[in-house]
Amino acid sequence: MDHQHGPWSVDGNRGLHLQLLKICIFGLFWIRGVTWNFPNLGLLKLNTNGSFTSPTVKAGVYKRVVKRRQRIVEKSKKLAFVAGACPTVGVGGHFSGGGYGMMSRKFGTSADIIIDVKLIDANGRIQDRESMGEDLFWAIRGGGGTSFGLIFSWKVKLLDIIEKVTIFNVTRTLEQNATQLVYKWQHIVDKVDDNLLLRLFLKSSESPIRRGQRTIYAFFTTMFVGGVDELLHEMQDSFSELGLVKEDCIEMSWIESILFFAGFPRGTSLDVLLHWNNSATNQEYYFKGKSDYVQHPISINGLEGIWKLFNQVGENSAELQFSPYGGKLSDISEYETPFPHRAGNIFMIHYAVFWGGGGGGGMKNSQSNIAWIRKLYGYMARYVLKSPRGAYFNYRDLDLGVNNKGNTSYEQARIWGVKYFKNNFE
Ligand SMILES: Cc1cc2nc3c(=O)[nH]c(=O)nc-3n(C[C@H](O)[C@H](O)[C@H](O)COP(=O)(O)OP(=O)(O)OC[C@H]3O[C@@H](n4cnc5c(N)ncnc54)[C@H](O)[C@@H]3O)c2cc1C
Repeated sequence: MDHQHGPWSVDGNRGLHLQLLKICIFGLFWIRGVTWNFPNLGLLKLNTNGSFTSPTVKAGVYKRVVKRRQRIVEKSKKLAFVAGACPTVGVGGHFSGGGYGMMSRKFGTSADIIIDVKLIDANGRIQDRESMGEDLFWAIRGGGGTSFGLIFSWKVKLLDIIEKVTIFNVTRTLEQNATQLVYKWQHIVDKVDDNLLLRLFLKSSESPIRRGQRTIYAFFTTMFVGGVDELLHEMQDSFSELGLVKEDCIEMSWIESILFFAGFPRGTSLDVLLHWNNSATNQEYYFKGKSDYVQHPISINGLEGIWKLFNQVGENSAELQFSPYGGKLSDISEYETPFPHRAGNIFMIHYAVFWGGGGGGGMKNSQSNIAWIRKLYGYMARYVLKSPRGAYFNYRDLDLGVNNKGNTSYEQARIWGVKYFKNNFE
């Protein structure tokens, strides 16, 4: 069985160096030219001596990373780390707020694999784990970095994985029994083998068979840390209704799977990870997201209510992302880090609505799109975790509340604090 590597003091060749090069600015509420599912690996350098240098945002950093690309590819075939997938996501906010990725059922969150940091505190002092103490080190692994200092360097455990992972992306529409499949998915997705992460994306678009009418598309987007035969066996046991066949599956290295989830055609050079630049997608988009946690499967009626609401927003302009929990995520205590969403959750929902910004349309269209997502969130209240309702800190939702310009009381902050952090907010 594979296992997590200990600190680099155990094996000095397995340090990981992450440089915080932000390729574009991402606000809490809007994004510019985002391509979903693109990893941030262009900013990653495997370090042979375990040392860290200061991350910077100056242009030269990008050049230096590019030069090291051969070493990244050579050294990371069997070594990996957990993180989400998006080109615009920076390490600083992502790691300090949790960090969910395609291997989270096997290894937990990004915050769970942090073993040291370098942080500049409010007095300008540079602190590491030892000098800052365990309380502060606990807080920045899921509590968000901002309140505690500027983290300019992270040291994470590299995870030993087998050379091949298997991926598939199978789509089913309502005409292909999507409602029943999503219903069944909820009953197995947190219980399957920890190596298997069956993520589900839902969208509404034109039906391929009923012209002029819309349908729901369910994309079962999956990664299995293992070979295709083992995956087929697991799927046959737990989710045969999906009808997965060998031809749907592709074996590849972990680093290649990063390209797959970014939507690149097979055979694309890994160099694209180093050369990606946000100007390739320079259209302006606006986006509003919200989140929830689900502990009991949503009924068929409940799902059908979601499909109806999808018909009240523009085609292809909204997406629900259902991200499975269970596995390692459930094994870790909710007090281990500030990220509290552990045992008991079947999956997390990310609700998102997008609209274009061209010709001043951004502000014009925001009202109706935001109203739509709030309506959906209201509808979902009966199906999701309550008292308190849960939310993922990395999917900041300003609707839950924001600090005052001056002082914010604990009582006021508690309203959103317990949603993000549960009892860790006390
Ligand atoms: C398109 C898209 C896809 C995403 N996919 C995923 C996903 O798959 N899984 C997932 O878990 N999350 C995902 N996220 C959410 C993502 O984890 C958060 O948006 C995260 O906050 C991004 O970090 P950032 O540094 O880019 O953000 P920023 O907006 O720059 O920062 C977020 C917060 O962190 C603070 N911060 C940033 N850097 C530092 C630092 N160095 N030291 C201290 N504080 C710092 C900032 O002050 C701010 O409060 C996605 C977001 C987007 C837009």
